[in-house]
Amino acid sequence: MEFAMEKEKLVLRLKQSGYIHSKEVEDAFLRISREFFVPPSLSRFAYEDRPLDIGEGQTISAPHMVALMAEALDVRSGLTILEVGSGSGYHAAVMSVLIGPNGRLYSVERIPNLAENAQKNLEKAGINNVIICKGDGSLGLPDHSPFDRIYVTCAAPDIPQPLIDQLEDGGKLLIPIGRVYCELTSIEKRGEDIISKVLGGCAFVPLIGKHGF
Ligand code: SAM
Repeated sequence: MEFAMEKEKLVLRLKQSGYIHSKEVEDAFLRISREFFVPPSLSRFAYEDRPLDIGEGQTISAPHMVALMAEALDVRSGLTILEVGSGSGYHAAVMSVLIGPNGRLYSVERIPNLAENAQKNLEKAGINNVIICKGDGSLGLPDHSPFDRIYVTCAAPDIPQPLIDQLEDGGKLLIPIGRVYCELTSIEKRGEDIISKVLGGCAFVPLIGKHGF
């Protein structure tokens, strides 16, 4: 299978359907090879726009969801980002291109096997500005806060207070709220004000943890 051609076709479809609209996100998608982040037995499906099984009952997110979240977060070079739910590491890899060599992305994963796999996948893809941490991401990472952007790749019952506390003033947070079928919710912190907007419906595995299910 010609992965490079499959990748270009996927990116074109994501542009035509409006999920990718910036050159930066397009370039990040073209830079990252999704086949490095899926189990070898599923690599032939790497450029289908759907989640795929990565073991432990978890999935790599669908490319359109990664694109939608990257565009909504308005990610720029040099930002510090917190990701809750590393999964395969693919989403983090795309974001790592957007923040560039001067940015940092901390990603927390609660299942140790997945955290170790994500680390290996990122190494295979040559990414070195992502730090994978094992633990309950619903608590955030206070030692590395504040974060310019925070995004959660699993569905929460509500916005975990530690994540709001660890968001920089002027920062943005994206989180799916609900059980299985949820609402992708965007939060902007402006001083004491929290401005919240629902971007649309989505489906995610649950956030399991102190501030999760
Ligand atoms: N975006 C990832 C990718 O591209 O592969 C997929 C993320 S997957 C949909 C959601 C991940 O969140 C799972 O790996 C799951 O183990 C993790 N997760 C669930 N609750 C968590 C928590 N409290 N802290 C950290 N990770 C959590």
